[in-house]
Amino acid sequence: TSAQIGVTGLAVMGRNLARNFARNGYAVALHNRTASRTHALVEEFGSEGDFIATETAKEFVAALERPRRLVIMVKAGEPTDAVIQEFAPLLESGDMIIDGGNAHFADTRRRERELRDQGIHFVGAGISGGEEGALHGPSIMPGGSPESYASLGPMLEKISAKAADEAPCVSHVGPDGAGHFVKMVHNGIEYADMQLIGEAYQLLRDVAGYSPAQIADIFRTWNTGRLDSYLIEITAEVLSHVDAATGKPFVDVVQDQAEQKGTGRWTVQIALDLGVPVSGIAEAVFARSLSGHKELRDASRSLAGPKATPLGESEAAAFADQVEQALYASKIVSYTQGFHEIAAGSAEYDWNIDLGAVSSLWRGGCIIRAAFLDRIRAAYDTRPDLPSLLSDDTFAQEIGAAQDDWRAVLAAAVHQGVPTPGFAAALAYYDALRAERLPAALTQGQRDFFGAHTYRRTDREGSFHTLWGGDRSEVAG
Ligand code: NDP
Repeated sequence: TSAQIGVTGLAVMGRNLARNFARNGYAVALHNRTASRTHALVEEFGSEGDFIATETAKEFVAALERPRRLVIMVKAGEPTDAVIQEFAPLLESGDMIIDGGNAHFADTRRRERELRDQGIHFVGAGISGGEEGALHGPSIMPGGSPESYASLGPMLEKISAKAADEAPCVSHVGPDGAGHFVKMVHNGIEYADMQLIGEAYQLLRDVAGYSPAQIADIFRTWNTGRLDSYLIEITAEVLSHVDAATGKPFVDVVQDQAEQKGTGRWTVQIALDLGVPVSGIAEAVFARSLSGHKELRDASRSLAGPKATPLGESEAAAFADQVEQALYASKIVSYTQGFHEIAAGSAEYDWNIDLGAVSSLWRGGCIIRAAFLDRIRAAYDTRPDLPSLLSDDTFAQEIGAAQDDWRAVLAAAVHQGVPTPGFAAALAYYDALRAERLPAALTQGQRDFFGAHTYRRTDREGSFHTLWGGDRSEVAG
């Protein structure tokens, strides 16, 4: 027999993805640099489906039906290039290589271009959902040629997560690096979501005076409303967990230094290149790096500042409701910024990405899955060329209704000295968009003063320069 799909790279992700394909009725060829992993998979899970274990690259390729579909699930970066170099010479025109790792989209663009000459379809596919998702149904963001999606799409739709309306959480995102770009922004949004939830927790703890267990209950309640999402759900689980060794809340025995693998950072780096203000995502990335600077924090603990005094019971409950408003409003801003980055990437690289379809495929399987994404899809369904999520009537109304509480929460945070960079950046973005005039006019004046960079006027076309060192008359720039 020959396999309909092959997976090389059988660490936790590849192994679970291979099992997912097999459980859905596909014959799966298996390969890993170290053959012991391949055999271990067959020994442990061989009864789950039709696996073909292979040891060499040649055997692996020979086990695949044509056109071949070969999934690479190895460490991103050089290992991915090494594996491509190993397999590409063994493939033929029309075959497909699917890279399911967390590749940088620029690498995906390069690989796609290099393999295109050989007639090989290179599909950079973002996969989200961690190991559980890989096994039970991830959210999949494939880029690459339409032909490759015609062949692969039905299989990916089968193994992917399904949204509440049963729609598969996968669709063809766009050419070459589009899939990995969207996966990158997904992770950036994930960082922002997590930071905002963290700030809400800190406020409920320090300002409202709730215990982790009480805050877990509050998050459980929120999870039945508009904030219904995987991240809110697991937050409640983490907060209600008690450390077995000490009997303390788990969250109090974990070191408060957050780590990161890099996709959040890429989201911000690329946003800087594209000129897209993703301030909420940037603050989330910076908050993680700040937390990691132990030496800086140890040296700064004695700096002056207010000490938060917890509220009374009824005030605390009212404050919790306000925090929910602040969290929701800030979340709308993060997604607005993330979708702006996708739109900008799509324009820059001619990807023609359907933003509604992206929000749709994030509704299940991935880390940011949430009821909220249905509303984003609805916004883009109503108006596919929506310039910003904040220009959607429903979101505009909701954020408008939340803004009083949002400001009150930030005022309390500032007053009591609780750091809330995510909430604050989101509100500053909102207020900047609303502003009649921004101080950018003054910035232009300064730039013209020290560097003759010129400026445009509100009342006339053209560019102008003021002779700052002379008689301060205005000349054409
Ligand atoms: P790892 O990223 O830990 O990679 C281990 C695998 O890569 C092993 O199969 C290893 O083979 C193989 N490998 C490493 N270097 C080479 C090389 N030079 N040549 C050939 N094979 C090599 O595995 P994961 O399963 O955690 O992740 C796989 C990919 O999926 C990564 O790109 C990751 O970023 C991405 N991803 C991971 C998620 C997760 O939750 N873990 C979620 C979504 C995506 P060997 O056994 O021989 O060492």
